[in-house]
This record gives sequence, structure tokens and C-alpha cells, in this order.
Amino acid sequence: MDCYLCKKNIQDIDFKDTYLLRNYISGLGKIRSKEKTGLCSSHQRHVANAIKRARHIGLLSATSK
Ligand SMILES: [Zn+2]
Repeated sequence: MDCYLCKKNIQDIDFKDTYLLRNYISGLGKIRSKEKTGLCSSHQRHVANAIKRARHIGLLSATSK
């Protein structure tokens, strides 16, 4: 397993950190799959939740421009 967030020892993903989250969103504004992000399943889940939360409060748009 070669998870970027495990390497950086990031446990709590800040949903306000759109710079980080953008790395895990595809060009179409979708959450990238685990195969593409290379995250472990727990971090993948955390990232997905953070992205959903960020979208909800409008930090990330659900669709890209
Ligand atoms: Zn991880």
C-alpha cells in the first residue's frame, strides 16, 4: 500500500483544504476511484466524505467548469 496521506501521516482531512481535495477529483468533478488516487481504503473514505462536505457548503462545485 502506497498511500500518500499515510506517508504524510495525515489523519484528519480538512474539508476546507480544497487544494488537497482537488487532487482527488477528476476533471469532471467526480471523486476519483481508489485505483486512481492510490489511497488506502480508510483514507479514500475520509477524502470522499471531505469532498462531499466541501461540496455541500459550496467550497467545491459538484461539476467542474
Ligand atoms: Zn492511508
